[in-house]
Amino acid sequence: MVFNIKSISVPHRPFFIKYGLALSSIIYILLPRVYHSDLLWQVSPFLMLIPSIIITSWYGGLLPGLFATFVGLIIGDYFFTHPFYTFIITDIPDLIRVFLFGVIGILISILSQLLHNALSKATTEAKQQKHITRLLQETNKQKSTFLNVVAHELKTPITIIRILAYRISDQYKQVLEKETIQELDGELERLTILVDDLLDISRIEKGKLHIEKKRTNLSNLIQQVVTRMQEISPQHTIHHTSTKNIFITVDELRIKQVLINLLANAVKHSSKHTMIDVTLHETKTEIVVVVKDEGIGINPKDMPHIFDMFYQVHDYFTKGFGLGLYISKEIIQQHKGNIWVESKKRKGSIFYFSLPKNQ
Ligand code: ADP
Repeated sequence: MVFNIKSISVPHRPFFIKYGLALSSIIYILLPRVYHSDLLWQVSPFLMLIPSIIITSWYGGLLPGLFATFVGLIIGDYFFTHPFYTFIITDIPDLIRVFLFGVIGILISILSQLLHNALSKATTEAKQQKHITRLLQETNKQKSTFLNVVAHELKTPITIIRILAYRISDQYKQVLEKETIQELDGELERLTILVDDLLDISRIEKGKLHIEKKRTNLSNLIQQVVTRMQEISPQHTIHHTSTKNIFITVDELRIKQVLINLLANAVKHSSKHTMIDVTLHETKTEIVVVVKDEGIGINPKDMPHIFDMFYQVHDYFTKGFGLGLYISKEIIQQHKGNIWVESKKRKGSIFYFSLPKNQ
């Protein structure tokens, strides 16, 4: 309901000013008519009083507007309507004039009040919005600081634990089962990746993910990563044929990180003895790297989200944190490139990333 009594916003001005304004504006407006009646006798006094209602209702709201209308009616009728100095109206056109003035006055007062309500609501909403934005910014800042502190504080103990674990497993390799050592190693690796990813997220949020570009042989870089991934994933066939050396100016370590993430994902989401193919395409303006697998593929509903922070597909069990693709996207965007995916459920996925040549 627009004119709910609770929603009426009364302009915060002193009472005597709001109502005094009604009276003074009426007198001020009617004075010329009294002193220059020879000139203004044809102009209806009621017409002249409309600005007084507009000013009063805009300045004071509904009630002062109605008050100005009421006083205007009395003055107009008493002083300027035939027979003068009485409240009697004998003429039908005069009666219509008085009636119209009353209706117009009420309408102006109501409309002004509605405008006041709308303005006051908009101002309150804008203030609330500002407050919420400030709170969100504050929370976001605190979250980034927390992330940064936790990741930094975890980094050193994890490195020490890893070194100690290697020593212990080496010392007790006759006593410990091979699977136990592998499991310990795997879990520590996972923890290290998580901390490194969290540190990267913290850098991204602070806008401090530095990219140090240098001229790089991309074909060689891909070959190195493919060879390493093939060693640690012997049950998949990871294939890359490079016909010629392609050079590009990029941050070698960061591009390596993207490649490792895409290949690790391809291995993680496809069954043993399937093929993973890495190819490199060159156009006039950019170089496109393609990582194709024959894995489980991605549901169309998940496709728009897989590059989001912490997004994971939950309809199967995977060991991950949903950070790899988000960080990869940020790295590629820092190189002014693009990263995208094409996929068909149960047929496999093709991840692409492009790097502009003129960097
Ligand atoms: P995670 O550490 O969970 O792998 P990512 O950001 O690397 O995080 O990937 C996000 C999600 O995208 C994964 O949970 C996975 O479901 C999906 N995904 C990524 N790569 C592939 C792929 N090659 N095949 C199928 N699903 C994939």
